[in-house]
Amino acid sequence: HATLGVMGGGQLGRMFVHAAQRLGYFTAVLDPDPHSPAGRASHHHIQTGYSDAHGLLQLSSLCAAVTTEFENVPAGALQALAVRCPVAPGAAAVAIAQDRIQEKAHFTASAAESGVMAGVSCAPYAVIETPEQLQAVPADLLPGILKTARMGYDGKGQVRVKDAAGLAAAWADLKQVPCVLEKMLPLKAECSVIVARGWQGDIVSFAPQCNVHVDGILAVTEAYEGNMPPALAARALDAAKSIANHIGYVGVLCVEFFVIEDGSAHGALVVNEMAPRPHNSGHYTLDACDVSQFDLQVHAMAGLPLPQPRQHSPAIMLNLLGEVWLDAQGRAHTPDWQAVLALPGTHLHLYGKTEARAGRKMGHLNITGADVASVKATARQAAAILGLPGFEGV
Ligand code: ATP
Ligand code: MG
Ligand code: MG
Repeated sequence: HATLGVMGGGQLGRMFVHAAQRLGYFTAVLDPDPHSPAGRASHHHIQTGYSDAHGLLQLSSLCAAVTTEFENVPAGALQALAVRCPVAPGAAAVAIAQDRIQEKAHFTASAAESGVMAGVSCAPYAVIETPEQLQAVPADLLPGILKTARMGYDGKGQVRVKDAAGLAAAWADLKQVPCVLEKMLPLKAECSVIVARGWQGDIVSFAPQCNVHVDGILAVTEAYEGNMPPALAARALDAAKSIANHIGYVGVLCVEFFVIEDGSAHGALVVNEMAPRPHNSGHYTLDACDVSQFDLQVHAMAGLPLPQPRQHSPAIMLNLLGEVWLDAQGRAHTPDWQAVLALPGTHLHLYGKTEARAGRKMGHLNITGADVASVKATARQAAAILGLPGFEGV
C-alpha cells in the first residue's frame, strides 16, 4: 500500500492520481483548495499552502515518492520534501523551468554541449531586469513579445509590443518585474515533445505532436504520423532528449517548439519553453497510446521500468475551455454531450471543476480512429457541435 504524492491539485494532478491508483497505489495531494480536482479524487488531501512546513512534513511522511503537477511550486518546498523522500522532478530542474531567463540559458547550453541540438536555438531575446537593460534593447528585437520571467502561463504575463515606446509602457504595466523580450517570429506551426527520464538516465518518448493555440491557450493537438515533416520531428525529439539529459531530469518533461518560416521548404525549429510535468498537449496519450504520459510520470517517480510508449491510433485532442459552457450572453448552459458522444472514437475527459469561466481548462475531448481522415472528420463535427475555435488550420 505505498502512497505516491503530488504537489498541486489541478487536472494534471487528477490524471496522475488516476494513473497511480490504477497501479494500486494510494495517493496524496497537497493543495490548499478544498475543491481541487486532484484533491477530491485522492485518498489523502492535505489542504495547506505549498510552503507550509506541517503540510510538507505530512506529505513526505505519507509518501514513497513525490512529484509535482504545476511548475510554480516553490523550489524550497521540493527541497524540503527531498530531505525525506525521493522527489521527481527535482527542485533544481523545476527552478530552471520556472524562470524563462534560466530556461533559455540552459537551452543555449545544451545546444552548445550536444551536436544534436545544433540548429535548434531560442528565439532572439533580451533579458530586461533594469531600466538600463530596457534602454539597451536592440531595435531588431521589435516587434516582439515581452514575457515575465516567472509565473506566466496560458499567455498570461505577456504583452505584444510594436516599438520602443510600447515596450517601455508594457514593462511599466508589468510593474518592472524581470522579463524577457522575444522577437516576434513568423510561426508556420507549433509542436511539442514529451519525454520521460528515469533515475538511471534511461529515456523514452512520444512522437512530436502539433499544437494550435488560440489567444495564447492550447486549443487543438494533432498527433499522428505525417503531422509534420519527419526530419523536423526527428530533430525536435533529439533536442528534447538532450535538454532532459543536460539538466539530469527525472520524470516527465514537455518541450515546446515553434516551426518558423526561414525560406526553406519545411521551416526551422526554435525551442520555446519547457514544462516539468505532463502537458496539456500530451492528453491524447490517454486514449491513443498503450502507455500515457501520466503512466510514465508514475513509473519514473516510483523507479519502475519506463516502457517505450506505442501509439496505436491517430488522434486529435480538442481542449474544452469554460466558453463551451457559456452561451453568447455569458449565461451557463450544458453542452450537447449526447451529440458529441454519439460520434465514433470520442473520449470525453472532464476535470470535475464546478465553475466554468472563460479561458478556464474544464476538460478535453480525445478523438481516435482507424485513420487520419476519419479522425479529422469526427474532430470537425465535434468542434462544430461545441462551437470550438482553432480548427480552421487542421
Ligand atoms: P503555456 O501555457 O504553454 O505555458 P505561456 O504563457 O508560457 O504558455 P508561451 O508558450 O511563451 O506562453 O507563448 C504562448 C503562445 O504565444 C505560443 O504558443 C505562441 O503561439 C505565441 N508566441 C510566444 N512567443 C512567441 C514568439 N516569440 N513569436 C511568435 N509567437 C509567439
Ligand atoms: Mg509556459
Ligand atoms: Mg507555452
